[in-house]
Amino acid sequence: MNLLDLDLPGLTAWFQDIGEKPFRARQVLRWLHQHGAEDFDQMTDLAKSLREKLRQSAQIRPPVLVAEQAAADGTRKFLLEVGPGNRVETVFIPETDRGTLCVSTQVGCALECRFCSTGRQGFNRNLSVAEILGQLWWANKALGRDPRGERIISNVVLMGMGEPLLNFDNVVTALSVMLDDHAYGLSRRRVTLSTSGIVPAMDRLRERMPVALAVSLHAPDDALRDELVPINRKYPLRELMAACRRYVAAAPRDFITFEYVMLEGVNDASEHARALIELTRDVPCKFNLIPFNPFPDSGYRRSPAQTVRRFASELQAAGLIATIRKTRGDDIDAACGQLAGEVEDKSRRVLRRMDALRVGVAA
Ligand code: SAH
Ligand code: SF4
Repeated sequence: MNLLDLDLPGLTAWFQDIGEKPFRARQVLRWLHQHGAEDFDQMTDLAKSLREKLRQSAQIRPPVLVAEQAAADGTRKFLLEVGPGNRVETVFIPETDRGTLCVSTQVGCALECRFCSTGRQGFNRNLSVAEILGQLWWANKALGRDPRGERIISNVVLMGMGEPLLNFDNVVTALSVMLDDHAYGLSRRRVTLSTSGIVPAMDRLRERMPVALAVSLHAPDDALRDELVPINRKYPLRELMAACRRYVAAAPRDFITFEYVMLEGVNDASEHARALIELTRDVPCKFNLIPFNPFPDSGYRRSPAQTVRRFASELQAAGLIATIRKTRGDDIDAACGQLAGEVEDKSRRVLRRMDALRVGVAA
């Protein structure tokens, strides 16, 4: 048993199974995640005999940290090995009022959005809970606390490699540890899950773990979105907008963040802005415009800064909140959509995925 795979309820049940007091789970969770313990001997408030028993029956096995890079702007990228031939990346982005860790949830991604480097690489497998949490575990160890004793990582976004809602159970368990006061103690508003719009899973997330939700919109109509975000063929905009409304209805102070990658001559005209205003009329939301981050052979260009500003002001003129995402860490390929790691594609994407989409549409 790798203890980094368990949240508090899981660890509590496990301690009961091995005939120990359930409160041990809280103690061990604190050692694992607040102190970053790497072996049981560090857990000094456990009796020697219990530590020995844990050594016999469990492991603390984070993914292997293989490289770390720092960008000129303070962004840091960690490369983690998750089995032979497969590596995923996690990125820390320092800002004046917070420090955000961008976490990956899959090795590659099967959804193949046209403008995304991860999507280009194909899909290998879901990350385990320990592999998702291991990113925070390592980054937290590397970054530690500020002089006031506050953790440097104040926010987590699931915006790295992969589609988090297609790895639902592991992601929810990992979120449960991120939010647990005995572990990272992040408030649910400081943890954002980004999805390309897996509608049924959005509903399940709202019931199980209603963290802040970002939706990768990228287009105001189905024709364009079908092309840029192919999963739209399965869950078109009408269903997606309804799911967004259901998500925020449960928590009235909340809003959806719509991410919108700015592609020159593709989705950045004034008519696109007008259509977006119409589309999102009854969804409490904010827009985050992301200047496209290029990668080799992407076939797209970033919209000029002036176009992005014009687009933002068109949304703002309609009373929407629209911010422009600053590109961070692009000198180390750590910007949005550039995370590549290393993926042994097992999906034989083109054929198999087109079949999956067709089945989905038929169903
Ligand atoms: N799979 C999830 C989360 C990971 S992607 C999702 O798609 O939402 C995180 C964000 O980066 C998404 O909004 C995605 O559309 C965006 N993105 C992907 N490639 C990009 C690129 N080349 N430039 C800018 N943003 C990109
Ligand atoms: Fe997957 Fe998100 Fe990239 Fe689309 S944008 S291919 S869903 S990681």
